[in-house]
Amino acid sequence: MKQNILCVDDIQTNLFILTSVFEEFAGDQYNLFLATSAMEGLDILLKEKIDLILLDIMMPEIDGFAAAKMIRSNKKTKDIPIIFVTAKKDDESIEMCYKVGGDDYVNKPFNYTELLARVSFHIQSKEKDVLLKEEQEYVQSILNLQENMILVTDGKKAINANHALLNFYNVETVEDFQKTLKCVCFTFIKDDGFFSLNLLKEDDQWVNEVIQRSKSEDVVVKIIKDETIEAIFNVKAATFKEQYIVTLTDITQISNLSLEYQHEANFDSLTQVYNRNMFQRLISKKITMAKVEATSFVFIILDIDYFKNVNDTHGHLVGDKVLKQLSALIKKHTRINDIFARWGGEEFVLSFNVKLKKGLEIAESLRVHIENENFEDVDQITCSFGVTEFKDNDTQDSLIKRADTALYEAKERGRNMVCQA
Ligand SMILES: [Mg+2]
Repeated sequence: MKQNILCVDDIQTNLFILTSVFEEFAGDQYNLFLATSAMEGLDILLKEKIDLILLDIMMPEIDGFAAAKMIRSNKKTKDIPIIFVTAKKDDESIEMCYKVGGDDYVNKPFNYTELLARVSFHIQSKEKDVLLKEEQEYVQSILNLQENMILVTDGKKAINANHALLNFYNVETVEDFQKTLKCVCFTFIKDDGFFSLNLLKEDDQWVNEVIQRSKSEDVVVKIIKDETIEAIFNVKAATFKEQYIVTLTDITQISNLSLEYQHEANFDSLTQVYNRNMFQRLISKKITMAKVEATSFVFIILDIDYFKNVNDTHGHLVGDKVLKQLSALIKKHTRINDIFARWGGEEFVLSFNVKLKKGLEIAESLRVHIENENFEDVDQITCSFGVTEFKDNDTQDSLIKRADTALYEAKERGRNMVCQA
């Protein structure tokens, strides 16, 4: 396809010379558009797709410099290469050629080989620019399509970012981002299990640290947005030349969901204390530890006396309330290393890192607390307790069985009491 060249000169003869040169030496490459004034030239520029402009400087009304300024300020024409073709040779004029946005200049009378070479050079260089720009736009549009936040950084300042990142941080451009936040790393909140700048030594580069860590673990960061919304991201990074490409994948929902599942799997939904599964896991660990370290602990099982009567007389909703209130009361009297769980129905289990004597005292004190508690709708309830201490050859089953025997004895002997086995 032929390239379109616009020649602007107020002297017809000059245009005629240009036409002859192009026709004779490059007629198959270029179409020429001719204008005898800047206005006429501007008119053609707006109508045609022009690839390069040969522009005279000395013209009546609007001279070449003023015309160049107008061409550069118009969105449609601002990138078209301009070569001044001029009789002017003084330094000031040459300087002016570039100042007003010209790409080159050729002196009149011109050497046609030189002129054609310069025309060809500027057209090709313009084409390369266009290709490069298109490639950049292509890459940017791929980046912008990603739901992940993507950042290109030199480790200190942001060089590029995609829409997802700019939207998240509520800024319009990378420059705005740079001005207001400087670096995403400053928005990472210090918290257990999360990556933040606090984990770095003084000279560490945060992106390098992310790259190192992500070889063996997921690097997860917490970011607080608008001072209230907590978001959790998985961070990955790679180096490219002197730059880093960082991606942040939002895993807030997944991570909240997994916390919910974890809670559901470990806690009794009514009383919000540990459920039987969790208790069994914990007690099994405890048995292993006790065997390895030759330590001991006490296991207690307790059961609400005549709980069936509560449900029969007041209904299940009141029964549920009693279970909740009882759980809260017992929980209040346990400490961080004690284990407390709902075993099922109206049965609860406890474990304390104490000897039997102390365990019996704890059970007795709990029995009294429960007896003295004013339960909504039912006034008073009491509990029976079976207490036992871990023995070397105990399994989970043998431990529970022994405590159960003690509980059975407490029931047999009239309830609201603590028995041991
Ligand atoms: Mg002239």
